[in-house]
Order: sequence, then C-alpha cells, then structure tokens
Amino acid sequence: MSDQRFVLAGVMGWPVAHSRSPVIHKHWIAKHGLKGSYVQLPVQPENLEDAIRGLKALGFAGCNVTVPHKVRAMALMDELHPVARRMQAINTIVVREDGSLYGMNNDGAGYVQSLRDADPAWRGDAGPVLLLGAGGAARAIVVALLDEGAPEIRICNRTRDKAQVLADEFGPLVKVVDWAEREDAQAGVSLLVNSTTLGMHGQSPLELRLDALPVQALVSDAIYIPLETPLLAAARVRGHRTVNGLGMLLNQARPAFEAWFGVMPEITPELRAAIQATF
Ligand code: NAP
Repeated sequence: MSDQRFVLAGVMGWPVAHSRSPVIHKHWIAKHGLKGSYVQLPVQPENLEDAIRGLKALGFAGCNVTVPHKVRAMALMDELHPVARRMQAINTIVVREDGSLYGMNNDGAGYVQSLRDADPAWRGDAGPVLLLGAGGAARAIVVALLDEGAPEIRICNRTRDKAQVLADEFGPLVKVVDWAEREDAQAGVSLLVNSTTLGMHGQSPLELRLDALPVQALVSDAIYIPLETPLLAAARVRGHRTVNGLGMLLNQARPAFEAWFGVMPEITPELRAAIQATF
C-alpha cells in the first residue's frame, strides 16, 4: 500500500451547489493519480468561524472560500499573502503543518491570466479600464490591473459609496463613475469588465448600450454561468474580442491546487471539456 497521504480540500460558500471548483480539482486529482478529494462545504454565514476553525480537526489541507465569505474569512487567518492583504479578501485557505491558517487570493492573477490566454499580446497599460461592480471580484481585479500598469480604472457601481471605498483605498488612478454614467464612461477605454452579478444565470441582464465603446476594446465578464452572458453576446456581435469568467476560475485554481496537493496542474482542453459538459 502506498504511504501517500489522503488530501482533503473543498469550497466553502453559501450557497455552493453551483460551483464548478469540484469539477476542476477532482479532474486534477485523477489526472495526477493523487489520493484525495475536493468537496462542497455549504456553510451559512453564522457558522463561518466554527467551520474555518474546524478545518484542521477534520483533516483538511485547506479550502477555497467563495461568496459571501471572502472578506470575513480573511480576519480568521493567522497569516495573509501580501496580495490578499491588499485585496482585503481571500479565496483560498491553506492549513499548514502546525495547524495555522494561511490566506491567499488568486482571483486577480487568475483574471489577468485569462485575458493573456485569450490574447497573448494583451497589455494592462494599453488604456483606461471601465470596471462595473465594486464587490469582492472587483477588489481582486483592481489590484491585479494596477499591478499590470493600468493607467486609469473607472469604477462604476450601483452603490456609489462602495466604489468610493475602492478609490480611497487604491489611490488616484482609480476613479468613481455614477452608475447612470456607465455608457458615457466607455469612451476611450481599452477594457470593459463586468464584475457585477448582472447577467449571471437567474439574475437580470446587465442593461448596457455599447455605442461609446471603442471597437478595439476587449470586453470581459467575471461570470461563467452562462459562459456567454448577454453582455458578451452583444459585444461579440459588435466585433469586440470577449473573455468569459471560466478562464479566471481555472487560473485561480492552479496555485490553490499546488498549495494543497503539491503539484502545479495544467489547464487542458480535456479539463475545459469536462466543465463545459456540466452546463
Ligand atoms: P459581491 O461581492 O456580492 O458583489 C456583487 C456586485 O454586483 C456588487 O458590485 C453589486 O452592487 C452588484 N450588483 C448586484 N446586483 C445588482 C443590480 N441589480 N444592479 C447593479 N449592480 C448589482 O460578488 P463578487 O464576489 O464580487 O462576484 C461578482 C460576480 O463575479 C459574480 O457573478 C461571481 O460569480 C463572479 N466571480 C467570478 C469569479 C471567477 O473565477 N470567474 C470569481 C469571483 C467572482 P452593489 O454594491 O450596489 O450591491
């Protein structure tokens, strides 16, 4: 019998049934012939602290953290990766040998890599960005785009105050735009990003005319259910290059898997096909 340790990981959120993370990690566990599993961890907000404190006792190597726990879970970590500290949110917990908890956030790097996968010539300093939304995904995307040299990020959120918090936190390159101005604010941008939940399966579509958007602008959506949101469909019809949220999900998963299972996995056509088969 092999002495290889059984490694347990999962995704903690409320709800989590929609998450495709189990498909991704189980695919990699099988592909690398590892002993382990990746499970759904549906945890209500009032049970978050108990659930996180219980990871070590239950033998978990760690877990992903998703909506609505990304910010509160951060406060329960013993140590944070510097990027997670700047984002003030985590999406991955690693339970270390001594039982201490290490928090990381791979969403921003995963997002940027998804743009590069779609367009290897993509450059963060190509021009201003219009970012719709100011939630957890937006925080990660702002930090990652600033690190890529974005000259200006216009944040437009239904609740203006939340966009203002990001602008105050991340400095003068981040500007606040009223939600009502989301069409005029497209002028001159090289990248339009939707990080709201609008357009997600079961939610209203994002109401957005693209008339002011330069034709060469890249249009991306953090949503991956459906793979093509109404925004991306409208952008494609207009001739824009589009990037859906699946690449972000896949790319953020790689370093998490490596931290738990000790192998840096690859995003292959077979993995993409396995996920697409679940839609
Ligand atoms: P969140 O923190 O709950 O933020 C939700 C955002 O959507 C807020 O900006 C919110 O605006 C906005 N919003 C919700 N309903 C709206 C409405 N009716 N009209 C206008 N704006 C509305 O969620 P999140 O974690 O940032 O996630 C946002 C999206 O990104 C989700 O669809 C999620 O699935 C996706 N995501 C994808 C990945 C990936 O790997 N692909 C990773 C993370 C997130 P208010 O501030 O006004 O409420």
